[in-house]
Amino acid sequence: MPEGADAATFQITEEAFTDDGVMINSRFLDGLKPKAAFEEVANRLSSETINGRPVGERKVNFRLRDWGVSRQRYWGCPIPMIHCDDCGVVPVPKSDMPVKLPDDIDFEKPGNPLDRHPTWKHVKCPKCGGDARRETDTMDTFVDSSWYFARFTAPWENDPTDPKAANEWLPVDQYIGGIEHAILHLLYSRFFARAMSATGHLDVAEPFKGLFTQGMVVHETYRAEDGRWLAPNEIELSGSGDDRKAVEIATGEPASIGSLEKMSKSKKNTVSPEDIIESFGADTARWFMLSDSPPERDVEWTDDGATGAHRFVQRVWRLVSEVADHVRGVAPKAAHEALPLRLRRRRTRP
Ligand SMILES: [Zn+2]
Repeated sequence: MPEGADAATFQITEEAFTDDGVMINSRFLDGLKPKAAFEEVANRLSSETINGRPVGERKVNFRLRDWGVSRQRYWGCPIPMIHCDDCGVVPVPKSDMPVKLPDDIDFEKPGNPLDRHPTWKHVKCPKCGGDARRETDTMDTFVDSSWYFARFTAPWENDPTDPKAANEWLPVDQYIGGIEHAILHLLYSRFFARAMSATGHLDVAEPFKGLFTQGMVVHETYRAEDGRWLAPNEIELSGSGDDRKAVEIATGEPASIGSLEKMSKSKKNTVSPEDIIESFGADTARWFMLSDSPPERDVEWTDDGATGAHRFVQRVWRLVSEVADHVRGVAPKAAHEALPLRLRRRRTRP
């Protein structure tokens, strides 16, 4: 409950209280702020004993896992290591950095194109001068994106960063990405920022001031009786609510309607932008995505929703057409002067 409220009379309503506040209905934690409550729980668990042993111990858990950074593909920073039969793995000397990718690359065959390149990987060992091989794996692109925002503050520098420039520009004001990035990439880049602060390349505790994870476009999934995924244009829908039914057009057999999922090729629950633009136009597609839900929430793509957005776009068009004759000859206003004007729909009473 909010701080200062009376636990005896405080009413829990339909709407959650989402600020920090103080604990209620939590026995020995009542009246404590969350941080103090964490402490109290940890203290109790570590001081109480069962059969002479503490019930628990205080420990910080990090969710950062080991990360395999090598990839067998062309697009990525080369890993600057050289393999020598006599000396083992030898780092590329600083004077030979950066290792550049070859431009004449062949993507036609499967496998790692760098490994197949006729000359790129053949080098001399920096230690003994004998024949050796370059590492042909490249780094996961998250390695670059975990710190490039620091590099961008002084891209002309010979060193990884100019700490003065980096400290002036960072932290980044707003990080925008999908929720899948919020778990891995966000942790990696925070880890990089800590490491770079320890090595003197940077002096920030956290690399990002704000995080915004935008929603995804989701769509129902459909499956034939034998388990095949079916695309929205392969089925015919009828009914509404609990009585909605789907039929596979090609076979006439009933299909099952599954959960809302992020659009993916494997589940075939995609609607191509070309189809949407073909049937409704690009304005409708844009309007539907912007109007259907706030940017942090998922947008459920439905034909009904798109049709609704299309009707709205047409209504605006009709309104402008009707007004056009009356405003002919009126000088246009600059956008900032016209801003307070809003287009409103007048509700008609029944
Ligand atoms: Zn060697």
